[in-house]
Amino acid sequence: MNTELHDYDVIIVGYGPVGVTAANLLGGMGVRVAVVERDAAIYPRARAISTDEETIRIWQSIGLAERLKEDMLAGRPIDFVDARGRSFLSLAPTPRGAGHPPQLFIYQPAMEQVLRDGVRRYPNVEILLGHDCASVEQDSDGVTVTARDLTDDAVRTLRAAYLIAADGGSSPIRTQLGIGFDGRTYHDRWVVIDTKVKRDWDTVDRLRFHCDPARPAVDCPTPLGHHRWEFPVLPGEDEQALISHDYIWRLLRRYGRTPDEVEILRAVVYSHHVRFAERWRIGRIFLAGDAAHAMPPWIGEGMSSGVRDAGNLCWKLVAVLRGELPAEVLDTYEVERKPHVREMTAQAVRFGRIITERRRALTALRDLAFRVVMRVPTVRAYMQEAGWFPANAYRKGLLDHNGGNRAIGKQLPQPWVRTDGGDRARLDDVLAGRWTLLHTGSARPWPAWAASGIPCLRVTPAGSAPAPGTVVDTDDVLIPWTRQHRATVLALRPDVVVYAAAGDTDLPRPPFVHPPQRRVAEQTPPPATTTP
Ligand SMILES: Cc1cc2nc3c(=O)[nH]c(=O)nc-3n(C[C@H](O)[C@H](O)[C@H](O)COP(=O)(O)OP(=O)(O)OC[C@H]3O[C@@H](n4cnc5c(N)ncnc54)[C@H](O)[C@@H]3O)c2cc1C
Repeated sequence: MNTELHDYDVIIVGYGPVGVTAANLLGGMGVRVAVVERDAAIYPRARAISTDEETIRIWQSIGLAERLKEDMLAGRPIDFVDARGRSFLSLAPTPRGAGHPPQLFIYQPAMEQVLRDGVRRYPNVEILLGHDCASVEQDSDGVTVTARDLTDDAVRTLRAAYLIAADGGSSPIRTQLGIGFDGRTYHDRWVVIDTKVKRDWDTVDRLRFHCDPARPAVDCPTPLGHHRWEFPVLPGEDEQALISHDYIWRLLRRYGRTPDEVEILRAVVYSHHVRFAERWRIGRIFLAGDAAHAMPPWIGEGMSSGVRDAGNLCWKLVAVLRGELPAEVLDTYEVERKPHVREMTAQAVRFGRIITERRRALTALRDLAFRVVMRVPTVRAYMQEAGWFPANAYRKGLLDHNGGNRAIGKQLPQPWVRTDGGDRARLDDVLAGRWTLLHTGSARPWPAWAASGIPCLRVTPAGSAPAPGTVVDTDDVLIPWTRQHRATVLALRPDVVVYAAAGDTDLPRPPFVHPPQRRVAEQTPPPATTTP
């Protein structure tokens, strides 16, 4: 037994999509991180099949968005079809301003490989694969983890100031801490089938929800030559029989698919849950991702919500570790994230009801109702433009509402801009994860912010010449957005959320205890990807 103590700033338990995102974020910010993961290799079952533009924006902040998008399918429509295969609701999501395609289909193991390769850029991140986090203890100074090497039973003791429990839906850490995970698990179980495409077919172009009361189904192209089907296990069916190849072919043949077109990779039966951990912060331990919340997969937001958790939490942890922000700021993680996750979950439940309704009379009514209401332009626009998609805007949290500006708590859209050097760049790449003042008027002194060393950038209209201290609003987005919010100056947090905003009023003071370090995130190019 090894009793040597290994010291870190943050320990991450769990190296799924949420843990690996946190490792990239923290690694890029230069803190010492240990990751403890039970499995020796990436989980081979592709669970998530879709993500969204805000999630890609977070992965942009770790320099991996473009590489990840190479392996994703964007711009695919979504059709809800009746029992005879006729569409009654068709969606083609339009961008909501984060600067990436609104919805992207993914192949989760390949995506996780790119994210893991990204972590290799950071010598300050140590990865302990094949290690079980056997226990977690905390005191007023830090957290102690006992990690057991599953190959030889050797035990390591790790110590850090904070711990992120990204250890999945059954989170042993949540259980060990006695934190409730209230909600419900759906009675219906679903068989999830991943296949490799051998030959394309004519209807492979989009995600189809077959809303057939006899047996609903998900039928979705996923990238890198994969295709996903999901079917509920019907009452009286034997789950084991259902995942046999014989039975799977019976299900797939119903949609015209044969072994000439696809090869079955794996089939697993899952339950759907609606659950929330009663607290997401327990002293120095933070639950993130599925450890904190579980939602049904219908709008593809379970993993994406977890990535948002990491995006919200990691820069705050680093700011507190550096003494830039007071430790109480860490309470704003749950305050900001939980309402959004709740809204996302409620929306996923609503979409699930549309898809999984099994009462024939109701499905007939549903199909007719959607066909009629989708003819109403405002309803069609609301559905098409994803007006139903919960905006990631905070009402409470690390915000200064003084002045009451409506921009406060919203994430600024991300257009392309022209930098002071004349280069075309995405806004976030210019802001580079730093607190920044962005203003559209003539320069005003904001002495408290200047004293904290916060950069101040003036937004100039499209067509302006690049000049020092400016960004040119080439897409004509930033100036209309600030005007619409009756603001002329925005104080932006590292996650490009508006901390404070002012028009005629003065900007509130910054929240810092000590001035933030200049470089918050490091933009390191992604390394070559290895094969999962
Ligand atoms: C059928 C299905 C479809 C889905 N579709 C989508 C979708 O389209 N879009 C979407 O966004 N989400 C989707 N989801 C949800 C998504 O898959 C999950 O939300 C996401 O994978 C959770 O990521 P995580 O990192 O929080 O947890 P996990 O991926 O579960 O990772 C947790 C990790 O912690 C490790 N671990 C656990 N305990 C310990 C321990 N004691 N010591 C060390 N390591 C430990 C585990 O080995 C695991 O690797 C879907 C889920 C399912 C089941």
